[in-house]
Amino acid sequence: MGPVHVLLVEDDPSIASSLSDSLRGAGYTVTHVATGQAAIEAELGDVVLLDLGLPDMDGYDVCRAVRAVSDVPIIVITARGEELDRVLGLELGADDYVVKPFGFRELVARIRAVTRRWQAASNVSGATGDESDDVLAVGPLRIDRRTHRATLDIEGTVTELALTPKEFELLSFLADDPGAVRTRIDIVEHVWDSNWFGPTKTVDAHVAGIRRKLGNASWIEAVRGVGFRLEIPTEAGE
Ligand code: CA
Repeated sequence: MGPVHVLLVEDDPSIASSLSDSLRGAGYTVTHVATGQAAIEAELGDVVLLDLGLPDMDGYDVCRAVRAVSDVPIIVITARGEELDRVLGLELGADDYVVKPFGFRELVARIRAVTRRWQAASNVSGATGDESDDVLAVGPLRIDRRTHRATLDIEGTVTELALTPKEFELLSFLADDPGAVRTRIDIVEHVWDSNWFGPTKTVDAHVAGIRRKLGNASWIEAVRGVGFRLEIPTEAGE
């Protein structure tokens, strides 16, 4: 496998040049663009590092535009820590984030985690195998790990859920053992990895995103002080 190709979207020249140098020094290939428009037109590579504060476009719109055409991992760089729920949730579909100022080692850990997971997912989807092992069915919910698709069958109408890669992993992890409680730590280690230094609040933001997409919050029950479990709602819809 060749070097990981990073698309860096950052308008601040000093941050962009020091980050590009550090990334190249760490063995990455880097394409740097300074505007949202250039980001949308650029080759996306293996991971996108996206500064939200761009001169020509709202970084949120850039994130959405990238996600509309690709599942490439997106790590948002933000100075706006209070809006992380929005960054990671339904609207944008970013995979992870770092808050300015951040350490280079922290960033590299995040890049490794998201690209590893993405490559694992692509390898799985390219493999041939016994499909039944790859499909989890929980009531009307069907999760196919081979094709990386989750669908919901409501009274015969099948809807595909537009989950981010992390949301897919989290939902699969819960669906692997419906009714069982998964602790936040278990979830973080399974869905992110053990190098994760972020707040476990990220788990809650992802759970909120999945609940919205499932259209019924009671699919995922919060067990106070412990974690979460997946359950078929007694009534469909809200
Ligand atoms: Ca900026």
